[in-house]
Amino acid sequence: MKGLIEMMLYEDCCYEGRGLGFTYSKEETRFRVWAPMAEEVLLMLYLNGDAECSEIVAAYFMAEDVGGTWTVVVEGDCKGLFYTYRVTNNGISAEAADPYAKAAGVNGDRSAVVDLAKTNPDGWEQDTKPVMLQTQDAVIYELHIRDLAMDKQSGIRNKGKYLEFLEDGTKGPGGVTTGIDHLKELGVTHVHLLPVYDFASIDEKHPENNCFNWGYDPKNYNVPEGSYSTDPYQPETRIYEFKRMVQALHKNNIGVIFDAVFGHVFDAGTSLFQKIVPGYFFRMNEDGTYCNGSGCGNEMASERKMVRKYIVDSVKFWAEEYHIDGFRFDQMGLLDIQTMVEVKEALEKIDGSMILFGEGWDMGGLPEDIKAIQAFTPQMPGIGFYNDHIRDSIKGPFNVLEEHGFVDGKQGAELEIMKGVTGSIFYNGILKDYNSEPGQSINYAANHDNNTLWDKLSAANPDASVSELVRMHKLANAIVFTSQGVPYLHAGEEFLRTKGGDFNSYKAPDSVNALDWSRKAEYYEVYNYYKGLIELRKANPAFRLPDTDAIGNNLLFISSPKNTVAFIISFGQVNSWKNTLVIYNANKTAAAVEVPMAEWNTVADGSNAGTKPFKREKTGNVVIDPISALVACTNEDIEIQPTFVH
Ligand code: CA
Repeated sequence: MKGLIEMMLYEDCCYEGRGLGFTYSKEETRFRVWAPMAEEVLLMLYLNGDAECSEIVAAYFMAEDVGGTWTVVVEGDCKGLFYTYRVTNNGISAEAADPYAKAAGVNGDRSAVVDLAKTNPDGWEQDTKPVMLQTQDAVIYELHIRDLAMDKQSGIRNKGKYLEFLEDGTKGPGGVTTGIDHLKELGVTHVHLLPVYDFASIDEKHPENNCFNWGYDPKNYNVPEGSYSTDPYQPETRIYEFKRMVQALHKNNIGVIFDAVFGHVFDAGTSLFQKIVPGYFFRMNEDGTYCNGSGCGNEMASERKMVRKYIVDSVKFWAEEYHIDGFRFDQMGLLDIQTMVEVKEALEKIDGSMILFGEGWDMGGLPEDIKAIQAFTPQMPGIGFYNDHIRDSIKGPFNVLEEHGFVDGKQGAELEIMKGVTGSIFYNGILKDYNSEPGQSINYAANHDNNTLWDKLSAANPDASVSELVRMHKLANAIVFTSQGVPYLHAGEEFLRTKGGDFNSYKAPDSVNALDWSRKAEYYEVYNYYKGLIELRKANPAFRLPDTDAIGNNLLFISSPKNTVAFIISFGQVNSWKNTLVIYNANKTAAAVEVPMAEWNTVADGSNAGTKPFKREKTGNVVIDPISALVACTNEDIEIQPTFVH
């Protein structure tokens, strides 16, 4: 295989052009596949998209063409036909779906010819994306399609389907809003959908089994998942319904972030990539086994030219064809910096306000200095990274259940929280951290991985009362929503989501994963608090400072007791406050903090959060309730004595 990869360095084995996959017209369809090592390639045409149906319409020998590609033109209207490539490498023939397939039959084993122009819903040309000036203005909500609706009490008819987002007016227990109305009411700006490309783990033929999977097992990168459509057998249906979902979210001013999982595939050995170009798409160990930094049995070799092109082409396709507003890269540390930079450049040309972030964990088999990881944020401007530092300092390590974080009593956690408050940026005080701009910090307390925030806090504090746990939970996200960077909420966190302690629910049933809407009714006060935090953040630009200089110049920490963090942001703009005071108190007792003398207007405390002041007080000394956050604003000019001393 080494010889092959060396060979790929020569331009004549790489294909830079367009038209990989099929190019359709009523008169003819051209197929093109990159298979530089192949001895023979056949195009197989089928009437049926189900790989279990064997009847073939026709088979065509494809001809070798430029850059290691093979091509054939089939005359007549091919719309409605399914196809595969039968590729012979080293005397071994294998049949594979098209890596550049834009549509597929049930379970994705056969690609489909469709006329994409005919898959657009009415009004698609007028579809407009939510306007966003900077990444920090986003409020991201991480959601699995099934989770939104599978609860029997969700009031949603198209449960677990793309179309669930089209249903407005849905109500749950106690008359609470559910579905898209809930998202709108909560005030999030973007949903990050767990994988919606075609993945392997769900049998699309048997929706009645109600199987659940997160979907981190890619099969067809450029095709929507079939099980979320109302008819996975009709290739156009999932495309059309996916677009209707995007359109519905856009109409409600909510952007869509796509989960891009290019670090690994479901199974490398049987993947279409391996069948078409053996040994090229995956990193191999010297003993011929697959590298496994992903923990999923393989690693995509993003550093190779045609793999990189594949990744860039794929995100461009989703952005253009499906009007996607952002991409979240799973296991981004498996990919190389150059690939991520090229992804960023390509997306920027399509939409300047595209959100791009990922899991910049240090993992996988690439040389250390080219990995797309947190340590190299300056080399990846405009790309965000999950901030596990703020996550773990808020609630304790994700993998040690009983250990505490700042909100549930860990001592000495103040400095880490302070770093998180600044967006973990390079900072000229003692808070020097790793991000080169605040938009690179994706701030969160929990996501789909590991325990939910509620389950983690409950497990670590078995003796705490429910009201105490609620206070910790609210404080955790008060920190997230008042920190610089981009806030990110795990769906249902706003009503204390629980998975009953399941820390890896990737294939657990809906009974574990689905949002339990009765909790929204039960903890409506908590929900309102979260809604208020979002409202407050969106109304006050002090929480969304544009760059590191603005943070360095305008955000000052002030002296406060142990297990508290206090700071003032002086970033007044028209219609907002000149100075914003924020204090977090993780103590189980009230705390007093000396603040500059002024009339302070409280907009958030442990019980309430929003934009309207509910308490006004001229004071130089603020008392904060146990385990709570306080946000107060003033329009007076004040003199601040900054300090880092604790
Ligand atoms: Ca699938």
